[in-house]
Amino acid sequence: MPATPAWPPSSLPRLFVEQALSDGLSLTLDGAPANYLGNVLRLGPGAEVKLFDDRTGEWLARIEEAGRKRVTLAVTRHLRPREEVPDLWLLFAPVKRAPLDWMIEKATELGVARLVPVVTQRTVVDRVNLDRLRAISIEAAEQCDRAALPELAEPVKLDKLLKEWPAERALLFADEEGGEPLQEAAKPGPAAILIGPEGGFTAEEREAIRAVPSARAVALGPRILRAETAALAALSLWMAAAGDWSRPPRA
Ligand code: SAH
Repeated sequence: MPATPAWPPSSLPRLFVEQALSDGLSLTLDGAPANYLGNVLRLGPGAEVKLFDDRTGEWLARIEEAGRKRVTLAVTRHLRPREEVPDLWLLFAPVKRAPLDWMIEKATELGVARLVPVVTQRTVVDRVNLDRLRAISIEAAEQCDRAALPELAEPVKLDKLLKEWPAERALLFADEEGGEPLQEAAKPGPAAILIGPEGGFTAEEREAIRAVPSARAVALGPRILRAETAALAALSLWMAAAGDWSRPPRA
């Protein structure tokens, strides 16, 4: 059987909208979403799309009017509630723009619940553009069928993060100097994966992380991975071992 091409998608277009959705609601989109529906996809009145609002879940909607700049839709049916994603956070030291964008996109696809930029001693990127990261995670959520966006936290300094660490949340610290294999350390329940910057953690930071009672050093094999590769590998292993990858897919 020939492989199904990833694009064009066989499913309906999906869009995140900021406003809360409800049965029968009429809403008008402008800007990028209107351009996407009206100009890129060339959809006209009667065409169906899926909308989600990160609050009430996913809805079917029908285009009523499609102009060049504005598209009006009527919400016609509730398709499913906002889903519960596994309670996994990704704590990452911001890396350069291209790998960071990639990391955010992949983390969203892999099912992360919360993204937390962490500033460490060797973090070389001094500004994180949260609006851009949010736009990337929205696009990834639209594409991968998520009805719940990952939360995006303000950047936090590592020492503050550790000082305020919630006791009940496992802190799986990806340590390229060795630790327990992540797939063995991953247990169901609240967890976070901490990935260092390209230059790694300093000895002082490593010690401070290890001093957190719920922290465990975890290894991702014998090779040194780039930060974004480490994030993707760690999230995948956790999802398979303790997340929702072994449950049957939704009908
Ligand atoms: N300190 C290294 C590079 C750090 S790699 C150096 O400068 O040579 C960036 C981050 O990815 C690390 O801080 C760690 O969190 C993670 N990482 C990379 N390879 C890993 C591995 N094999 N096991 C666990 N974590 C790893």
